[in-house]
Amino acid sequence: MHQSSNPTVDPVLAVLRQYFGFESFRGFQREIIDHLLAGQDAIVLMPTGGGKSLCYQVPALVLPGVVVVVSPLIALMQDQVAALWQNGIRAAFVNSTQTPQETASVLWQARQGALDLLYMAPERLLMESSLAFLSQLPVVLFAIDEAHCVSQWGHDFRPEYLGLSVLSERFPGVPRLAVTATATAVTRADIMKHLNLHQARLFIASFDRPNIHYTIVPKNDEKKQLKQFLDAEHPHDAGIVYCLSRKRVEEVALWVEKSGRRALPYHAGLDKETRQRNQATFLREEGVIIVATIAFGMGIDKPDVRFVAHLDLPKSLEAYCQEIGRAGRDGHPANAFLTYGYEDVVKLRRLLASSSVTEPVRRIARQQLDTMLAYCETTQCRRQLLLRHFGEQYPRACGNCDTCRAPIATWDGTIVAQKALSCVYRTGQRFGVEHLVDVLLGKTTERITSLDHEKITTFGIGSELSAQQWRSVFRQLVAADLLTVEPLHGGLRLTQRCRPVLRGEQSVRFRQEVEVCTPAKKEAQSAKNPHSFPDQQSKELWQSLKTFRQEIARQQGIPAYCIFHDATLQEMVDKRPTTEHDLSKINGIGIRKLKAYSNELLRIIKQFDQENSGG
Ligand code: ADP
Ligand code: ZN
Repeated sequence: MHQSSNPTVDPVLAVLRQYFGFESFRGFQREIIDHLLAGQDAIVLMPTGGGKSLCYQVPALVLPGVVVVVSPLIALMQDQVAALWQNGIRAAFVNSTQTPQETASVLWQARQGALDLLYMAPERLLMESSLAFLSQLPVVLFAIDEAHCVSQWGHDFRPEYLGLSVLSERFPGVPRLAVTATATAVTRADIMKHLNLHQARLFIASFDRPNIHYTIVPKNDEKKQLKQFLDAEHPHDAGIVYCLSRKRVEEVALWVEKSGRRALPYHAGLDKETRQRNQATFLREEGVIIVATIAFGMGIDKPDVRFVAHLDLPKSLEAYCQEIGRAGRDGHPANAFLTYGYEDVVKLRRLLASSSVTEPVRRIARQQLDTMLAYCETTQCRRQLLLRHFGEQYPRACGNCDTCRAPIATWDGTIVAQKALSCVYRTGQRFGVEHLVDVLLGKTTERITSLDHEKITTFGIGSELSAQQWRSVFRQLVAADLLTVEPLHGGLRLTQRCRPVLRGEQSVRFRQEVEVCTPAKKEAQSAKNPHSFPDQQSKELWQSLKTFRQEIARQQGIPAYCIFHDATLQEMVDKRPTTEHDLSKINGIGIRKLKAYSNELLRIIKQFDQENSGG
């Protein structure tokens, strides 16, 4: 056997090396696995890309019996299972996309003891026939993926998940594991309660994602801003662009296409086939940009999404984190880019006001929106603020967000704030930003003359700032809770907190608006290039390996990352393995992949070295 460790010493580590080709466990993985192997329940909160799936995949290979994985992500099961087979792991799924014959065949395999892992959608698992079937098998573990779906407060609530508590009654001796990347205390409590996991041990990993670089810029021409961002940072990379409405998704997707990139729309208004096709293209082909509403993304486990860009404000920090969570799962540098404007806040508040939710829910949603806005407007380290929001302390400024890399300049805006606030007051606390700015700038628009607003004392007192600067001032006053927005019409009102400002007892500082992605700043603001090569040859080898990967993926009809992750190819470029033994040392190459691909890989690398050694 080519692996160096002695498998009889530590069967758990042996599985990690032989099947997954990884050298050691990360973070809590080993502890979680040992806990499960001892027959105990666990709840695992780990950020995206933290390595949750190994926590149940390894026990499936160590224990004699089958691990049942409950997942709502039907569309992904096929790829997940394909990736496992690449590692020589016997996995299958049962869901509504299959014919009865296919399902019967999977169940037959399970009964023969020919499966290590069985993926099931919750609604299928909860059918009496399924429960009865499973009770005849040696089920060694239930893994409940995306466990936050049990929480009614979250964005992914799935009523079927509430039924999963039945597992504890029907399979009292079988350990259960609930995993999620949603970290709020409410979600945690809901998982415990609704999945009947009161006794489970809680494993909470840090939610910091050090490879994500955060950039947030005020919106002025968001399509152009997006283009600058793409050209400067991601000319060839795959990524996701989120927009608030279906109409905008269509519009932006077209626009991105026109500017020379492959872009596909995704929203709930498209028919199911188109949605599935676009998602599959995004997953399978390289460098595709998907432009989507939040309908897209749950469980997208494509590892090499290099950026997530928001053209509109997400409705909460929780949603924002969930969405940017899809970037950089492979641990390589990735960008989270957001443009936000005051119009977004007005639009979201209006949506909220006209929705049919109860008052308490509406109040929570409003607070969430305010927190999101404050996050955008902050002059402090964004990572610190994000982690603090989720109850985690980050001891220092991170050095990998826009505010850290280019500290935000602020200016004393006390007088300007007083002018803006009194303008709101004098016009009767019912007008939106555009009108207020017109008044401050002394414009004689039709509206102003018809309302006699050229006669009030704040008319024309704001010529020191441009219209755009005034808009920024109003946005920051809302973020600082000195003004609130009337939800239906977007009119601004004063809050209690503006009194000391108006009386001159409290000063106000504004952030200086940063120029967006000018070429000079680009270098400092971006995430580091994930694939850096010392020379041209290495770059060419990387291309050859990628072409080879794409070719096999196409032959087998699965996404390229199911064959090898980018990190694995990168390591081959760096280390240039020349023997099978060298190759087995590369992360992500277990026994199965070594057998299947070593000849070709070594041939490519050898040929390459020969061609390049001559000159
Ligand atoms: P999650 O489900 O938590 O988002 P995954 O289980 O998909 O994360 O793992 C994220 C990435 O990290 C995958 O590419 C996986 O292969 C890799 N990974 C997980 N555990 C290890 C490990 N112990 N050593 C090396 N790579 C790992
Ligand atoms: Zn920072």
